Amino acid sequence: MIRENLDKVTEEIRRACQRAGRAEESVTLLAVSKTMPAEMLEEAHAWGVTEFGENKVQEIVEKAEKLGTQAYHFHMIGHLQKNKVKKAVQLSVMIHSVDSLALARCIDKEANRLGKRQDILLEVNIAQEESKFGVRASDVPELAKEIFKLPNVCLRGLMTVAPYTAFPEENRKYFREMHNLLVDINRQNMDNRPMDILSMGMTGDYPIAIEEGATHVRVGTGIFGERYYAAKEQK
Ligand SMILES: *Cc1c(COP(=O)(O)O)cnc(C)c1O
Repeated sequence: MIRENLDKVTEEIRRACQRAGRAEESVTLLAVSKTMPAEMLEEAHAWGVTEFGENKVQEIVEKAEKLGTQAYHFHMIGHLQKNKVKKAVQLSVMIHSVDSLALARCIDKEANRLGKRQDILLEVNIAQEESKFGVRASDVPELAKEIFKLPNVCLRGLMTVAPYTAFPEENRKYFREMHNLLVDINRQNMDNRPMDILSMGMTGDYPIAIEEGATHVRVGTGIFGERYYAAKEQK
């Protein structure tokens, strides 16, 4: 199943890139493996997937123990609490869900201890949904300016979780706003190095996100199938 799903997703990515006049290599597929057992990550890995998205540090710890972090690259995409930062920095190639200056400073501190420069993204609540984490778009420039000063983190770009909708076209405007936000900040030249990552688009809307400039799409259900949270919670 995973192989067929991956073929389908890869083909969709290829077509979206074509429509947008972009190179296929400009898009990185993150297989969102939250709640899935290590065996399913191994299967995806056998078909060429190296980037995995997880939303809980504890799951990264467990899967990293089984699979290692050399061939498997873990991306932290869920809300991150300060007491989990140390493990997150140890085990993730990128933290997509930075939503405050305090958290960025905490990551900077742990990265310094580990002698690492941690790649991070700022999570933006682009549709201003009350239920969502992330900073307001209008706060991003100021925050980015402060985060660029931290020596042990590298702010690579922006991330968003667009609203859940049965009509993915409705999210196009949000993806476009995200892209404009990134371009605006890069234009202000706050750091020597421009931000180059836009993490946006999930199973329901990743082709549209790619058309609007996503460099990293996070696909879970479309690769691994439905998640069964209830069964998981009983453990
Ligand atoms: C679960 C999750 C995804 C993947 O969602 P699907 O709809 O299953 O593709 C992407 N991003 C984040 C932040 C998630 O928590």
